[in-house]
Amino acid sequence: MIRIAELKLPLSQVQYHPENHTEFHPTEKLTQLAAERLGVTTQAIASLQVYKRSFDARKAELLAVYIADVALVDESQEAALLQRFAGDSHVNPTPDQRWTPIGQAPADLAERPVVVGFGPCGMFAALVLAQMGFKPIVLERGKTVRERTKDTWRLWRKRELTPESNVQFGEGGAGTFSDGKLYSQIKDPRHLGRKVLTEFVTYGAPPEILYAAHPHIGTFKLVKLVEGMREEIRRLGGEIRFEHRVTDVQIEGEGEQRQLVGLQVLNQATGESYSLPTHHAVMALGHSSRDTFVAFYERGVAMEAKPFSVGFRIEHPQSVIDRARWGKDAGHPLLGAADYKLVHHAKNGRAVYSFCMCPGGTVVAATSEPERVVTNGMSQYSRAERNANAGMVCAIDPTDYPRDAKSFAWAFDGKTYGVEDLPEGALHPLSGIVLQRQLETKAYLLGGRNYNAPGQLVGDFIEGKESAALGEVQPSYKPGITLVNLHHALPTYAIEAMREALPAFGKKIRGYDMKDAVLTGVETRTSSPVKIGRGADFQSDNTRGLYPAGEGASYAGGILSAGVDGIKVGEAVACAILGVAVPS
Ligand code: FAD
Repeated sequence: MIRIAELKLPLSQVQYHPENHTEFHPTEKLTQLAAERLGVTTQAIASLQVYKRSFDARKAELLAVYIADVALVDESQEAALLQRFAGDSHVNPTPDQRWTPIGQAPADLAERPVVVGFGPCGMFAALVLAQMGFKPIVLERGKTVRERTKDTWRLWRKRELTPESNVQFGEGGAGTFSDGKLYSQIKDPRHLGRKVLTEFVTYGAPPEILYAAHPHIGTFKLVKLVEGMREEIRRLGGEIRFEHRVTDVQIEGEGEQRQLVGLQVLNQATGESYSLPTHHAVMALGHSSRDTFVAFYERGVAMEAKPFSVGFRIEHPQSVIDRARWGKDAGHPLLGAADYKLVHHAKNGRAVYSFCMCPGGTVVAATSEPERVVTNGMSQYSRAERNANAGMVCAIDPTDYPRDAKSFAWAFDGKTYGVEDLPEGALHPLSGIVLQRQLETKAYLLGGRNYNAPGQLVGDFIEGKESAALGEVQPSYKPGITLVNLHHALPTYAIEAMREALPAFGKKIRGYDMKDAVLTGVETRTSSPVKIGRGADFQSDNTRGLYPAGEGASYAGGILSAGVDGIKVGEAVACAILGVAVPS
C-alpha cells in the first residue's frame, strides 16, 4: 500500500457516516484527490483508508488534512509508482505497524515475572508478557477501578482521602481519571504506539482514536477498557493482586553481581506481609510512589533527582478558547472543544508552559497524601463541560530543591537520609520529593485545611492582590476553592515568571489573561521527581532484575508513552528470560 500525507479538503464538504458515527469527507472525494496526487486514474485505486486526520486553521477556510493509505488495483504497479515519488516525503510505502511477539515462554518456566503497578505502563508490560505466555504476577497497591472510583469521589464530595486508593493509586494508574489524551512526541520507530491504541480499541475505546491526530477517550471509557485489559491478562494466565503494595526490595550481591531476588509485599486488605521471590520485576510505579522511591534509595538502587515543573491550574470558559482557536468555525461538531499548547520564556530564565490541557473538563483534587492539596485535570469523552482547564507550570530543576536537614526531617518523619553530609553543591536524590511535600502542604493550609484548593482570579494574580469574589468563571474543582493570594503558594521565581507569561499568552489566545479566569493550585505532580536509571537491557543501572519503567522512573510522560514503555520493558523481561537480544 502507499501512504499519502497532506491531502487537504475544506471542512464545509464533510459528510456524516451514520453506520460508524464518523464524519469524513466522502471517500470518492478523497480518492479523487489521492489519484491526482499520484497521477493515476480513480479507477486505478482499489481502496483508500484514512490513517490520520487533523485540522489546519491557518487559512481563511478551515481545512481537514488527511494521511491516507491507498491500495492500487494492480498491486504490481505500487513499487514503480513509489519509485517515481522517491524523495517526496509525503508519498511513502505504508509501513507494517503490526506488533509481533519476540518469543514464547518455555513450557517449564521456572519463575513468573512480576509487574509492580497497574497503570498504563504496568498494564502493557503485563499484557505483552501474558500474550507471550509468561503469566505475569501483577502487584497493585490500589483497588480495582470501580472501588477506586468510589474512594476518589469520596475526597471530591466528602473531603475524605483514602491514601491507597485515589487519583494516583489504583487499577488503571494515574491517567484513569483524566482527559485520556492519547498522543505523544516520543520517537516510535517500531510503531508500538499503534499497538497501544489498537489494544485500547479492542477493549472499548472509540475507533476514532486510531485516526484522530489528537485522540482522547475521557474518564468513563478509560474505566471500561482498563477492566477489559485486566480480564484479558487473567484469561491468558496472568494474576493480578490488588491492594498488594511492594514495601521493600531484596537484593543480593555486590557491584556487577547485585541482583534482585525478591520483593517484600504488604497485603493491605489483610495486613499480612510476605516475601515474593523474583529475579525479574518491572517497576512501573508512577510519579507519586514516594514511599517506594525511599525504599529504593535505602537499598542503594541507582537514582537521581531530576527536573519537573510546578504551578497552578487555569480555567477559562471553553467558548473563549474555541473562539480564539477556531474563529468563525467555533462550535463545529467535528472540531469539538479546542485545545491549546503554550510556552513563554520569562526574563528570569524560567520557562512557563501549559500542561495536560483538558478541553471541556474539570479540575480535580489529585493528592495521594493526607493534609496535602494537588490539582490536575480530567474530562469525559464528550468534553462538554463549561470550562477549559490546563496546568500552567514553571520548569524547575534540582538546584531549586531544598537540601537542608530540617526540611528533610520534616518531609520524611524525622529522617534526613544523609543530606547534612553532602558536599557543597551536591544534589540529593530525594530532594524533589521534599519540595513537592512543602508546596502541597502549603496549599492545604492556604486552602483552609479542608482539602479546598487555594484559588485566585487571574486579574488579581497579575496585580498581586487577594481575590475577594469570583467573577464570570465558576471554578470546577471539588470539594471547593478558597480565594487567597496565590503568591504565597509557590517560590517567587515561579510567581514572577507566571505573572509575566499570562499577558504573553493573552496575545496568542485572545482572552487567556481575562481577569475572571481562575487559578487553583498547586500543580506539583507534573512528572517524576526522580530518575531511576536503566541500561540498554532495560535493567537498573546497578541492580540486575529490577526494570525501572514508565513515568515514575522518568521513561514516559503520559498514557501513550507509558504504554509504549511498558511494551518495551515487557519485551526486555521476556528477552532476559529467553536469553535473546532486546529488539532495537
Ligand atoms: P501510573 O499511571 O502512575 O501507575 C503507577 C501504578 O503503580 C499506580 O496504579 C500505583 O497505585 C502503583 N504503585 C505505585 N507504587 C506501588 C507499590 N509500591 N506497589 C504496588 N503498586 C504500586 N496523561 C495523558 O497522556 N493524557 C491525559 O489526558 C492525562 N491526564 C491526566 C490526568 C490526571 C488527573 C493525572 C493524575 C494524570 C494524567 N496524565 C495524562 C498522566 C498519565 O496518567 C501518566 O503519565 C501515566 O498514567 C503514567 O503511567 P505509569 O503506568 O507510568 O504510572
